[in-house]
Amino acid sequence: MKILVINAGSSSLKYQLFDMSDEKMLAKGICERIGGRGKLTHKTPDGNSISFEVDMPTHVEAFKQVQKVLSSGENPVVKDLGEIAAVGHRMLHGGDKYTKSMLITDELLEKLEELCVLAPLHNPANIMGIRSCRDVLGNEVPQVVVFDTEFHSTMPPEAYMYPIPYEYYEKYGLRRYGFHGTSHKYVSEKCAELMGRDIKELKIITVHCGNGSSITAVKNGKSVDTSMGLTPLEGIIMGTRSGSIDPTVVSFLCEKENMTPIEVCQLLNKKSGKLGLSGVSSDDRDLREAEKNGHERAALALKIQNYQVIKYVGSYAAVMNGVDAIAFAGGIGENSEPLRKAVCDSLGFLGVKIDDEANNRTLFGVQGEISAPDSKVKVFVIPTNEELVIARETVEIVKNFN
Ligand code: ADP
Repeated sequence: MKILVINAGSSSLKYQLFDMSDEKMLAKGICERIGGRGKLTHKTPDGNSISFEVDMPTHVEAFKQVQKVLSSGENPVVKDLGEIAAVGHRMLHGGDKYTKSMLITDELLEKLEELCVLAPLHNPANIMGIRSCRDVLGNEVPQVVVFDTEFHSTMPPEAYMYPIPYEYYEKYGLRRYGFHGTSHKYVSEKCAELMGRDIKELKIITVHCGNGSSITAVKNGKSVDTSMGLTPLEGIIMGTRSGSIDPTVVSFLCEKENMTPIEVCQLLNKKSGKLGLSGVSSDDRDLREAEKNGHERAALALKIQNYQVIKYVGSYAAVMNGVDAIAFAGGIGENSEPLRKAVCDSLGFLGVKIDDEANNRTLFGVQGEISAPDSKVKVFVIPTNEELVIARETVEIVKNFN
């Protein structure tokens, strides 16, 4: 069964095609700059890559180009588009109504629009991706929506409620939801698999650090707490997001800088975090280079990142009354040996012991254990695969549908 996975942003559309008989990825790519002269980059696992510019005024045109590139050329990935059995779409926010992946219908699409108020930066684009796909493929090809919040729907109220007047939770669903759910699910399951243990008997902390970062406490296979909240802004410092701050900063800036609350939120999402602090870049590679050259604010941004990851991992070990394994994922989790070392060294009192050689050797895309043989807590680097989780969920839903 071939499954196409779509992750639509406001001006981009990422795709991956899987053959689910062996879960092999057949092709992946991205359409960028949708809305004008777009660019499509298409890659296959044999190392071939093509890239071309073409007009992409809307997501519909972008999706038509994806269709074309999958089924044409010298070595088409699919001979006939009818081979695509179903499409799985990533959606950021499911609110508290949508806690499971679902088959998309006209009625559901209408209802999903209501969630845009909770995620105005992401959900409208995700919905646009779904609509474009349905426009081009028609309703015969089943489409499934998979929410980033899904995996965290098992959090208990003490982890998800904000201590504000209860009526705002009842009226607007104002609470913590958590994101990167497909990543935390994949990484925790893979971690249990690598340990050769049943996930139902494990306490795992998954550290997903990329442009966006979140940390999750996974107890017996279920998310019991996570660092992101109502939106992906809460939690640890990120590339351009501040992470958790005192909300008074918002009213203060509104007053002193004559900004609207929305402008301050944009500032906290797009111009803060490691970029805002360092004034150099949101990217750890640049920050590490700057740190080497004596840039103090770049060094501070990285120090804060280490410090906050340590704080969350330590508190999640306390919340779960122990931890059996810590798994690092995402561009930073997979590549930043100083971050992994700082976290493991700080948690030495819990019995975490890093193998420095293994830590220094584990680089992008390589999965491996980095704890010492006598470490009480196992530590892994696990490259995440959010698209595969979406493809798996899609197969499950479509199987039941048929
Ligand atoms: P996204 O959250 O957009 O999926 P990624 O998980 O790909 O992002 O993470 C991107 C980040 O990973 C980059 O901004 C950079 O900070 C970090 N990164 C990538 N390669 C390296 C590296 N070799 N060393 C340190 N950080 C890296």
